[in-house]
Amino acid sequence: MFSYISKILDKLKNLLTGREKAFLCDTCKYDYPAACRNAKRPNVKECGEYRSRTT
Ligand code: SF4
Repeated sequence: MFSYISKILDKLKNLLTGREKAFLCDTCKYDYPAACRNAKRPNVKECGEYRSRTT
């Protein structure tokens, strides 16, 4: 129970301080259906397949 409340408080703190992680897909060069079949695209915050568009 305590860890659940702690997670909620951390999430609120990150939202209020602007430290919430951005969606990786927004800057990933595979962010289109033919390149990425991850069902959670485009709202992924952690991904082993991520490749930046700038590199
Ligand atoms: S590879 Fe990962 S980060 Fe890139 S678009 Fe697909 S789900 Fe998003």
